[in-house]
This record gives sequence, C-alpha cells and structure tokens, in this order.
Amino acid sequence: KASSAESSPSPGKGIENVVIIGSGPAGYTAAIYAARANLKPVVFEGYQVGGVPGGQLMTTTEVENFPGFPDGITGPDLMDRMRRQAERWGAELFQEDVESVDVKSSPFTVKSSERKVKCHSIIFATGATARRLKLPREDEFWSRGISACAICDGASPLFKRQVLAVVGGGDTATEEALYLTKYARHVHLLVRKDQLRASKAMQDRVINNPNVTVHFNTETLDIVSNTKGQMSGVLIRKSDTGEENVLEAKGLFYGIGHSPNSQLLEGQVELDSAGYLLVQDGSGKTSVEGVFAAGDVQDHEWRQAITAAGSGCIAALSVERYLVNNN
Ligand code: FAD
Repeated sequence: KASSAESSPSPGKGIENVVIIGSGPAGYTAAIYAARANLKPVVFEGYQVGGVPGGQLMTTTEVENFPGFPDGITGPDLMDRMRRQAERWGAELFQEDVESVDVKSSPFTVKSSERKVKCHSIIFATGATARRLKLPREDEFWSRGISACAICDGASPLFKRQVLAVVGGGDTATEEALYLTKYARHVHLLVRKDQLRASKAMQDRVINNPNVTVHFNTETLDIVSNTKGQMSGVLIRKSDTGEENVLEAKGLFYGIGHSPNSQLLEGQVELDSAGYLLVQDGSGKTSVEGVFAAGDVQDHEWRQAITAAGSGCIAALSVERYLVNNN
C-alpha cells in the first residue's frame, strides 16, 4: 500500500481540515479543489476496485464523453491524470480502505487499517457498485459485451447498429432500453417477472416502442459466444415453461440497479431507502454538519464521470466555506 506522503497523519498529531474518502472522479476533483484552497486534504483512495485507486472508470476502456478529450481517453488514463493533478497541488494520498468513520461528535474520526485521522470535515465520495447477475461467463465478457451503462457505452462501435438485450424490469432497465434504441438495430428487454416494475409512463413508452421487444417470465442464464470468442447471444429460460433458448444479441446491458457504498455512514447520516446519502441540493451537505458527499454515492440518477466530478467540486467549495464559518 503506497502513500505519496513523507509523513502521515497519526493520532494526537493535530486535526486535519478535510478527509476525502474515495478516488473516483468525485474524490479526486474534491481533492484538487481542496488542495488548491490550501486545505491540505487527506485522501483515502481505497483499493476495492481491482486493487488500484481510481474507481469505476478503471474497469472500462474508452471514455468518449468526458469534456476535453475530443478523441476519447481510456478510463485508467483519465483517472491517472486526475490523481496526478491532485498530488501536484499537495493532496496527501493513501491507498487504504477506510474501515470506520465516527461523525457522532466533532472532530470526526476516520480509521483505516494503517492509521486513525481526526478531522473537521469529511467528503464522502465512495461511489456505487453496479449490481451484477453473477452469470458464469460474466467476468469474461464484462466490458466486452456486458455493460452496466447505456449512456456510457450505447454509442460505442461494439454496440452501434447491433441487436442488444437489457436485463431488468424497473425504471433503470426501461430507461436503458429506450436509450439504446437510438443506436441499436433492436433491443430485447429481459424481465424475470410477468410484469414491469417501472413507472406507468416508462412502461407505456417501452411497450409501445416498435424497436423494443419485452420478454416477460424470462431468466437470463449466461452469455453465448461465437467461434471468434465474441459475444453472440444470451442464454435465456422461460420461467413458466422451463424452455431454454439462445437470443441473438451482441450486447447485454444490466439495468438491475446500483448499490451505493454508504455502509460506513449507516446509522450516522440520513440515507434514502436505497442507501444513497441524502444531500441538500447544490451543496453536497449531508444531514450532519461538516459531512459532505459527492459522486455516485449520493446520485442514483445521472451516474456519470462528469457529474461526479462536478459534485466533487461543489463539495470541496462547500467544505471551504464551512471551515471559514466554523473557525
Ligand atoms: P467511483 O468511481 O465509484 O469511485 C469510488 C471510489 O471510492 C473508489 O476509488 C473506491 O475504491 C473508493 N472507496 C469505496 N469505499 C471505500 C472505502 N471504504 N475507503 C476508501 N475508499 C473507498 N461515466 C461516464 O461519464 N462516461 C463513461 O464512459 C463511463 N463508463 C463507465 C464504464 C463502466 C464499466 C462503469 C462501471 C462506469 C462507467 N461510467 C462512465 C460511470 C462512472 O464511472 C461513474 O459515474 C463515476 O466513476 C462515479 O464516480 P465516483 O467518484 O462517484 O465513484
């Protein structure tokens, strides 16, 4: 576990201005802004995703929609640039997972396996994790046929003008299916139950769209590949008849929701019913003064790198204001 710092904060050695938890676009953007404001932020980058910092974009190839990169940029390259920018301005980075957070009294306490840090404020930027189906060949085809983000991947050459499938029956899945009709030749929506859970308006839009076929009572069992090892279909089973079939599709989009990584704050800060941190609009403020949130952990709707970065900026500016007003 590497640290960019020569000295590390340790118990009793003073109270940090701000601790940032997470190293996705939200965490690094918050770190850049806080460091430039001379707050000397301490960043716990985490190593949950693939043992490296950088968050969800470390698991993807091309990012085509982050402004400033007209030819696209790979996820790892983008995250490396953000990391170096945060470091350049003096953010102190620790590649450690935070194991506990105590925000019941101020100063707050943040603990990893290596250190305990006291701080006046926290920016929580721990992201969210796309729920997976755990199909037998899921890891093999993740980002090579399977995606959890239609907005991110729908227009990519891998999926454009192809027949695609979306799995799920709620608002996320119906939105993904409708979004994909802009690019795909046809979209199959695979619904496990005999009805959709999505709002009535979304149900109507999906069912009336000639480019979407809704398959009810349909379980998604696995990915099927061709002789070149490329995804060529989805193995499905009708739950009412038990019949198994291969549905031709070049891509499978998961629309089964995300889990926000908010467990560390459970019982301490207000969460919504799905576990997302509740924040006041436009400020990143949570229900506890001095605790701020940014990125996917507080956003069940947009979940984009640029929106995560924007909310990281807002959280850092809010922290700056909070520290001025409380000192
Ligand atoms: P994340 O990127 O999820 O980062 C969270 C960070 O928190 C991670 O570094 C994690 O290690 C850390 N963390 C979690 N728990 C702890 C802990 N206890 N202690 C310390 N650290 C912790 N968006 C786009 O705009 N364009 C795209 O092309 C695009 N492609 C995508 C492709 C894929 C495969 C995926 C999965 C997502 C894609 N997205 C894309 C969405 C985008 O990646 C997310 O919206 C964005 O990364 C959210 O940023 P974040 O900073 O909130 O969280």
